[in-house]
Amino acid sequence: MRKQIVAGNWKMNNDSQQTKDLLTEILTKKPQNTTAKIVVAPTFVNLESAVNKTAGSNVIVAAQNMHQAENGAYTGEVSVSMLKSIKVNTVILGHSERRAYFGETNSLLAEKVNTALKHNLTIIFCFGEELADRQSGNHFNVVESQLKEGLFHISENQWPNVVLAYEPVWAIGTGETASPEQAQEMHNFIRTLIKENVSADVAENTSILYGGSVKPDNAKEIFSKPDVDGGLIGGASLKADDFLAIVNAI
Ligand code: 13P
Repeated sequence: MRKQIVAGNWKMNNDSQQTKDLLTEILTKKPQNTTAKIVVAPTFVNLESAVNKTAGSNVIVAAQNMHQAENGAYTGEVSVSMLKSIKVNTVILGHSERRAYFGETNSLLAEKVNTALKHNLTIIFCFGEELADRQSGNHFNVVESQLKEGLFHISENQWPNVVLAYEPVWAIGTGETASPEQAQEMHNFIRTLIKENVSADVAENTSILYGGSVKPDNAKEIFSKPDVDGGLIGGASLKADDFLAIVNAI
């Protein structure tokens, strides 16, 4: 059985105190559903305090990005060993905001994937089409290229460390979600791609999350689809009650 996961991508929100406060609230109110894996991704500077705060709980702390090189003269960047040294073992890669604003290409992401997996991190690999791609009916091709060029080169035994997050760009932060049917259709397409390019076993066991304007009032319907294994939540993950309601919708 593949894992169900709800991950909060806090993006560039929450200072030091707000990070502690939000985690305190999440940990105190506690999700009722303990079968889903719960992940939060604060910004780099607050990762260590988040790890300390969540120690012994079932909340996993992830980074939002990392550099592809092991170390060196890359001013302003953060390496995989730095993350591991503060017990961060999960990283989001390829978020559409990284692709759009920081020039992350499929081939760069392939390098980041390699570095992360080499060091045994779990990756949450994000991808998804833009509005124009969907309007022109090109969304399946775009997603297929993002996966083939950024991820499918890895070996079969590395897949247990991979979580996929389909995030249609037109649904991120816009209040417009993909319909549960659109999400299911794409998730099923992705699972079939994995089956054809990797193996049936990996296809069956890889969690595929949906992201893009997931809220407490639409989470249940989206998560009820057979190929949707949870969500990657932006805005609604910044409020403990909303985030926990989404976790409980699994
Ligand atoms: P929103 O939930 O704010 O649409 O953001 C989704 C997202 O980008 C998660 O990574």
